[in-house]
Amino acid sequence: MTQISDVLEQVRSYAPDADIAPVMAAYLLAAKAHAGQTRKSGEPYLTHPLEVAMILADLRMDVETISTALLHDALEDNPLSAEEMTEQVGPVITQLVDGVTKIGKLKFRSKEELQAENFRKMMLAMSRDVRVILVKLADRTHNMRTIEHHRPDKQKTIATETTDIFIPIANRLGITKLKNELEQVCFKTLEPDAWSTISEFLDSTQADRDEYIARTQEVLTKMLADEGIEGRVSGRAKSPFSIFRKMEAQNLSVEEVPDTLAFRVILPEDGQPYAVLGAVHARFAPVPGRIKDYIARPKPNGYQSLHTTIIGPEGRRMEIQIRTELMHRVAEEGIAAHWKYKEGHLALSPDDVAAISRIRELFETARDAESAEEFMETVKVELYADEVFVFTPAGDVKRLRKGATALDFAYLVHTDVGNHCVGARANGRMVPLRYELQSGDRLEILTSPSQSPNRDWLQICKTGRALQKVRRYLREEEKEAAVRLGREMLDSELKKYGSSAKKIIGSQELKEFLSNRPHRDAEQLFEAIARGQVGLSTVCKAVLPAGEYERQRQQAGTFGQLLNRWRRPTQSPVLITGEDGVLVTYAGCCNPLPGEDVVGFITRGRGITVHKAACSQLNGLDEGRQIPVEWDIGRGTQHSGQIKIFCNDRPGMLANITSVCEQQAVNILSAQASSGSTEGAVVTLDLSVRDVAELTRVIRNIEKIRGVEAVQRVSG
Ligand code: MN
Repeated sequence: MTQISDVLEQVRSYAPDADIAPVMAAYLLAAKAHAGQTRKSGEPYLTHPLEVAMILADLRMDVETISTALLHDALEDNPLSAEEMTEQVGPVITQLVDGVTKIGKLKFRSKEELQAENFRKMMLAMSRDVRVILVKLADRTHNMRTIEHHRPDKQKTIATETTDIFIPIANRLGITKLKNELEQVCFKTLEPDAWSTISEFLDSTQADRDEYIARTQEVLTKMLADEGIEGRVSGRAKSPFSIFRKMEAQNLSVEEVPDTLAFRVILPEDGQPYAVLGAVHARFAPVPGRIKDYIARPKPNGYQSLHTTIIGPEGRRMEIQIRTELMHRVAEEGIAAHWKYKEGHLALSPDDVAAISRIRELFETARDAESAEEFMETVKVELYADEVFVFTPAGDVKRLRKGATALDFAYLVHTDVGNHCVGARANGRMVPLRYELQSGDRLEILTSPSQSPNRDWLQICKTGRALQKVRRYLREEEKEAAVRLGREMLDSELKKYGSSAKKIIGSQELKEFLSNRPHRDAEQLFEAIARGQVGLSTVCKAVLPAGEYERQRQQAGTFGQLLNRWRRPTQSPVLITGEDGVLVTYAGCCNPLPGEDVVGFITRGRGITVHKAACSQLNGLDEGRQIPVEWDIGRGTQHSGQIKIFCNDRPGMLANITSVCEQQAVNILSAQASSGSTEGAVVTLDLSVRDVAELTRVIRNIEKIRGVEAVQRVSG
């Protein structure tokens, strides 16, 4: 059983001057946190963190990582708080422990390969510091070593998760040592029959194989000596799992697998791997097509070696791997191989910079570090920093760009879900549409049939997909609104001449008119009218009975004006909803509010501008382009209304004013206060109100405040 002294001894062996005080502090705290707890095996719980720490010490990890390993389960289900931990071992180790605890809470359920890949990325993205993932890997390795203490069905679940998630991560980081160990245990757990067949075969042939390995080692060592090459040779049987893979791939029985033996030639750093390959091929026949040069083309995880398969001594087929000592360490330890101790801290030797640049690729990080040194010195690795990974309620993992919101997620689920999204629950907590997603969130979108996209959503959406869907919706909605509005405008104008939109739709006159225009049908014509691209008079002239338009215009010259005004109530005004849009805008000169008398003005190409009926700006505008409009009340949209308050400059005045607004449930969009001449002050408020009645009510109530002299509506 591993003791803390074993861990410390191992650390001293590769980092003699490392400060081991944090390890001791972490150990004492872990012993306190896990006191009285036992593992499923019946052993004291503390054995587990000690073994995890030892696995990492074997990988020559730094003191902080080993301390984290000792404490990695101490925050979970324990009375120990993060505050207490920070007090005892400092913030860095506590943060690392917190990271391990967080990713430990992620649950993976899906069977799909793509989902597994996303889940792995989620873990890496959440780890932030690569040391978190290394502790998690070591944790899993020890749990797999003791897997027999679980029920058989639970064993299979754990082994499947390890195969889907942890083995690919170990492979990704190039930590072959842990990857191989995990593979063997998973294989044994998931394929017990195949495992025992292969193990029995390996056991029964072991004596013969050991002797053969010894003889061949001698032959190869002598070969190196004859060539004047320095280096060492080792041999081994391939693992049961790699034999199993060959059996599966080529549909062979265990006896038929051609090469179950592998030899390694490991050279000093200045050794010549290609010279060794030449020497081997000069003596033994290579199997065609089996030479692999991972030195010239390293694997994505940094692995480098020359591989060849030969018909070796006594005619037996075998694989030979040729590499240098550093390549060997990288092959075994992956990313961990590049970290060296310098004055008690992990650092990078300049010689390793080139090797590191390959490791960098492995993180696929979009953010390029200034230099390899900077990249490794901090040991902080921003893995998948530009992405977030979140769960659907079904447990699927979705990937989005960083900064994506709940609304983006809704559109990722389905366009309809996006269009009706009113908010979400993230990990059971209610969040708004603009909530920024965090990796590991479990999201449930809330929808309502009455919800629909509006212009604000273009600010909330951060993904191209969602933006495109919102834009499309708004375009279509705007088009529909334009058709409706254009029809109402034309209808209103036609009624002056005793006709109506209904009467002219489908008429021969309209058909003729359209045949000379780019507009395909009445709908397109209405849209063009609303957008101010076609004048109402042009259409009226064409569709009214011949001469009718001119006759009415002439009358208008005399008493017609008066008549028209008298007739106005029978005209059908264009209904405006009060929503700011592309087609209907509200004049900045007079800021009309629902409830006030208003007039529309048809602009050229920009739809209708709504003014107060009393607005002086209207006098200068073409009367022919004016159009009756009326509020479509009951839509409950909000408008900005500005007021100016003249009051005493006494403390608490602004607080009194805002509390009145609060009581009336009116939101303040902005507030400005300026000291006036002697003792007076002027407060300007921009309020969000439903209609003029609401604004008037607020004004009345502000006027009642002691010290308020006057309140003015700000408008043209
Ligand atoms: Mn653990």
